[in-house]
Amino acid sequence: MLPFQIFAALYLLLLLPLLSLCAEDYYKILQLDRSASERDIKRAYRTLSKKFHPDKNPGDETAQKKFVDIAEAYEILSSTSTRKIYDQYGHEGLEQHRQGANGRAHDPFEMFSRFFGGGGHFGHAGGHRKGPDMETRLHLPLQAFYTGREVEFTLEKQQICDTCEGSGSADGKVETCDKCAGHGIIIQKHMLAPGMFQQVQMACDKCGGKGKTIKKPCSVCHGNRVVRKPVSLSATIEPGMAKGARVVFENEADESPDWVAGDLIVILGEKEPELGASDEERTDGTFFRRKGKDLFWKEVLSLREAWMGEWTRNITHLDGHVVELRRKRGEVVQPLAVETVKGEGMPIWHEGHLHEHHDGEEYGNLFVEYAVVLPDQMERGMEKDFFALFEKWRKKNGVDLLKDSGRPNPASSKPTKDEL
Ligand SMILES: [Zn+2]
Ligand SMILES: [Zn+2]
Repeated sequence: MLPFQIFAALYLLLLLPLLSLCAEDYYKILQLDRSASERDIKRAYRTLSKKFHPDKNPGDETAQKKFVDIAEAYEILSSTSTRKIYDQYGHEGLEQHRQGANGRAHDPFEMFSRFFGGGGHFGHAGGHRKGPDMETRLHLPLQAFYTGREVEFTLEKQQICDTCEGSGSADGKVETCDKCAGHGIIIQKHMLAPGMFQQVQMACDKCGGKGKTIKKPCSVCHGNRVVRKPVSLSATIEPGMAKGARVVFENEADESPDWVAGDLIVILGEKEPELGASDEERTDGTFFRRKGKDLFWKEVLSLREAWMGEWTRNITHLDGHVVELRRKRGEVVQPLAVETVKGEGMPIWHEGHLHEHHDGEEYGNLFVEYAVVLPDQMERGMEKDFFALFEKWRKKNGVDLLKDSGRPNPASSKPTKDEL
């Protein structure tokens, strides 16, 4: 053997095992690790297959390849038997298994339609019927609207039966109805008068208008092809989203083998405030009231504070930061006075992103309304002192109590007898 040939042979020997290792890890494709549950795998397929569907990425070849890979990964990992083989023997094991089982080639669109219903495409492409949209309400604490967060929620909806993959049949066999030849309708002739017939079209009574019959109905869906069960979803709440904002989950409404699932629309609502269990949740902000981009808060002052000043309040905001309110000695706060704290309102959200104006207006305002509480009773000694002090001050300044009341002087404003 020539040195070159030896080298080439060696190179090939080294390359062969590499080639079989090259196929990308199925768990990686679905962005999961090996401990992923059946539910995780489904959820990953649900999200990723929609994201990389060619209908959504026209002309993007990378997305198309990903879509195919995702379908393949899901097909293997969603079945306990093939997942086991893959976990133990990897791609090579699957290859052998496929050869043994006549290598059923998978169609990623078929996989997609099995999962979501319809013909493997989104409603706008291919002319497939789209199912009805669904609406649901999600009530969140004000804090979620302020800071933004991922919110997990569950929802019960109609889903294609996993057990029979939407066929309704336990053994996978679906037969064409012999009475209506698969049309689902039969035509009956009624004789109205001798020699005069009327043709009436009606749903086939044997197959119930489905055109197909199942001998062994699936034990899970009883031949209905769909089941109602809960599904977990996760919604991204962005800071400053409005009460009543609609978060759209494309193709997440009720599923059916007969249509492409419609959209699920989640309408956000605000929960009644309640005192949180943990310290983090026990903020004054929990009880802020929201109106659009502004927040409102009522702060109580004692007579001494309102009148004499020299006080501080630390208001904990919705995310835990502190807003300090204060007055120096001698600064008076009138009852019901409203203070505007600029920039301490809600984040301003606009068209799916935070408002990034350069005028610095990223937040609304916090309006603090002051309530002043007078003491119910005064200690006798204190009352005496106060009274004496007022009298002394009044005499010194010659204050007229009538004038000081701010009301029109009855003596001067009362019409006299002559005027009447
Ligand atoms: Zn079933
Ligand atoms: Zn029939």
